[in-house]
Amino acid sequence: MTGRKTESHDLLITPDMEWADATQAIRAGQFRTQEQEHGEVIYPTSSFVFKSAAEAAARFAGDIPGNIYSRFTNPTVRMFEERLAALEGGERCVATSSGMAAIMATCMAFLKQGDHVVCSRNVFGTTHVVFDKYMAKFGVDTAFVSLTDTEAWEAAVRPNTRFLFLETPSNPLNEVADIRALAELAHANGAMLIVDNCFCTPVLQKPLDLGADLVIHSATKFLDGQGRCVGGAVVGPDKLLEEVFGFLRSGGFTLSPFNAWVFLKGLETLPIRMQAHCRQGFAMAEWLQQQDWVEKVFYCGLPDHPCHQLAMKQQKGFGGVVSFQVKGGREEAWRLIDQTRWLSITANLGDVKTTITHPATTTHGRLADAEKARAGITENLIRLCVGLEDLQDIQADLSPS
Ligand SMILES: *Cc1c(COP(=O)(O)O)cnc(C)c1O
Repeated sequence: MTGRKTESHDLLITPDMEWADATQAIRAGQFRTQEQEHGEVIYPTSSFVFKSAAEAAARFAGDIPGNIYSRFTNPTVRMFEERLAALEGGERCVATSSGMAAIMATCMAFLKQGDHVVCSRNVFGTTHVVFDKYMAKFGVDTAFVSLTDTEAWEAAVRPNTRFLFLETPSNPLNEVADIRALAELAHANGAMLIVDNCFCTPVLQKPLDLGADLVIHSATKFLDGQGRCVGGAVVGPDKLLEEVFGFLRSGGFTLSPFNAWVFLKGLETLPIRMQAHCRQGFAMAEWLQQQDWVEKVFYCGLPDHPCHQLAMKQQKGFGGVVSFQVKGGREEAWRLIDQTRWLSITANLGDVKTTITHPATTTHGRLADAEKARAGITENLIRLCVGLEDLQDIQADLSPS
């Protein structure tokens, strides 16, 4: 067994390079001490108490390691960070109060006035807003390019480009970016590549291994897996994470210990859940293709998807998100959604419960018509995140009555 001494505990089980994901997901970051041999403990503590004035001074000065205040560090949050870092193969992880907080903290840590960002056009809607509206306000320009068009990325890079930012596979059409090629492009231009790994999770894709500098997570989705808490994280090398941490302890959007504990429980089943999501997603995509009320299916696991080859190379599985067009327009799409009896009509994803949404009027509703058209968000498009209910039951509920 591996381990190391930490601030307030005898031994923290640290990731072992030999361990497979299933072991990391259940064991990495767990405490092993006499009084806490059962592992996860929630520390609902705002401020930590010192033995003496001298100890307080030494901790504040950084002369001895240890917790001071839960806006900086907290042992439960630390466990979650250790475990997610282990799964992503990163040196360090910093947890945040939401996925957007992870993106915001990364922006605040690395961007300054006059900097430039290149971002894939079809990122999560709120990520688009952060760059387009708020970063712009502080003099940071963002160029939005097509995720799959490597030449467009190349053309958009400028001398002041600080980072490239993308999500792959994309929401909702499952387009895949070549992480390795874009990491090389970033590095050749003195920039970083940041990958939002929300859809794949480290079980299906490890962007750091492919050359990315930082990984972003919305823990709200598959990491939790059961729709309970909002949270996020940034993972990567120590040196970069120290910058993120530095901003975060001042910026203040840190993760609560309770939410960290929920995510720890979520991570324990992440590998097995992701395998099941992949199986269900694939079977659902094939089934949808055979339905006469379906126009087209978008799933990178299907051989006719334009990104199938790259997805095969880059990912260990194709995930649970399956989008499809029904025959007709908005009316037919809404009718199909409304006639389901128990699928969850929600814009969320990454849950054991199957979720269904109409992207054109929810997740992508803020886009102008021309932007929707360019992103392929048609009125007859429906996005499913296939959960872990029985497949035939899901199909029965989805089939037009
Ligand atoms: C949900 C989501 C986010 C934002 O995460 P929150 O936890 O909702 O703040 C960022 N990126 C992707 C890909 C998401 O799906």
